[in-house]
Amino acid sequence: MNADSITVNGRSYRAPTRPLVVVCVDGCEPEYINQAIGSGRAPFIAALREKGTCLTADCVVPSFTNPNNLSIVTGAPPSVHGICGNYFWDRDAGAEVMMNDPKYLRAGTILAAFASAGASVAVVTAKDKLRALLGHRMAGICFSSERAAEATVAANGIAGVPAMVGMPVPSVYSAELSEFVFAAGVKLLEQKRPDVMYLSTTDYVQHKAAPGVGAANDFYAMMDRYLGELDALGATVVLTADHGMNAKTDAFGRPNIVFLQDALDRAYGAGATRVILPITDPYVVHHGALGSFATVYLSSSAPARDVSEKIAGLPGIELVLPRAVACARFELPEDRVGDLVVVSERLTVIGTSAGRHDLSGLDAPLRSHGGVSEQRVPLIANRKAPELPAGRRWRNFDAFELALNYLQ
Ligand SMILES: [Zn+2]
Repeated sequence: MNADSITVNGRSYRAPTRPLVVVCVDGCEPEYINQAIGSGRAPFIAALREKGTCLTADCVVPSFTNPNNLSIVTGAPPSVHGICGNYFWDRDAGAEVMMNDPKYLRAGTILAAFASAGASVAVVTAKDKLRALLGHRMAGICFSSERAAEATVAANGIAGVPAMVGMPVPSVYSAELSEFVFAAGVKLLEQKRPDVMYLSTTDYVQHKAAPGVGAANDFYAMMDRYLGELDALGATVVLTADHGMNAKTDAFGRPNIVFLQDALDRAYGAGATRVILPITDPYVVHHGALGSFATVYLSSSAPARDVSEKIAGLPGIELVLPRAVACARFELPEDRVGDLVVVSERLTVIGTSAGRHDLSGLDAPLRSHGGVSEQRVPLIANRKAPELPAGRRWRNFDAFELALNYLQ
């Protein structure tokens, strides 16, 4: 690197003095780690209680994957980087627009800035949907587990990934898709020793398995082994999550769903309101496009105050906020949020119309995220931070700052 520090989106980061690995564990409710430690399956992480740093941080609301991954790599909230979900409603175009394209990204990443300053940077993500956003304008290695076999030097900065990792490319709906990320991270550290690495998994396991159950502990035991290897190779390792995860069911495991578009259509007529669920994405099998956050666009026949009161009266709704209030509180870009923001309670998700959600792919009681109830996430490091400011509200998107400016 040719500088002592870089500045990105108004924040400064010291140059790494040893390889840095920031890990975003998708859907990592803190209780998953707690239970894995309690069962004796995560000895490396357990030892960090003495040797490392363990904080609890707040993620970005909506507590979804893309807004939070982009916050972590930009060190900034969605009001700065622009990515506040998978979809928004483009009023001018009259269409639901997918925000996976880097053209919707409004800020540079810490990863790209380090690469420009001469650091070697590598990014591995489980699902390909995040790859283009995370690797935007970044020189270096960037590939997904999902498309690892197709990686080329020209497009991804590396080829022959499955052979390097020593694992076949897993199914997109599997725990192995995340294991591939960790295995690739260890091999990259051994063979190329990047200065900065970002690893991002998928929440396939967390959507199915509650903290402490077999499949969850198996996942965290696997992760613990790889984190131990990264540590043994001399890296600074910081682990955080994009969001938490909760059961969204009643005591019998039946999903608690507020079909918000149906309720508003009954009250105001079809077409008077438009409910957008920013969790909707091409990979919906494990959550049926149901999460705890929605945004509602209104027409003149559906007055905001009246609609707000209507929604607030529905069982399972935690918050209904006008756009300006929601965007100030959750640091969201006003031009990509509807007239109202609706957040449901911990045990409830929001749907549009009953007929638009295919729940046939759910083979376990619904677990999901999106709300304030999934905002708490772990922020853990394998080194001590002796001079942490007292009383600071840590965010998951402080991961690089903690790593580079505070850890020993
Ligand atoms: Zn996620």
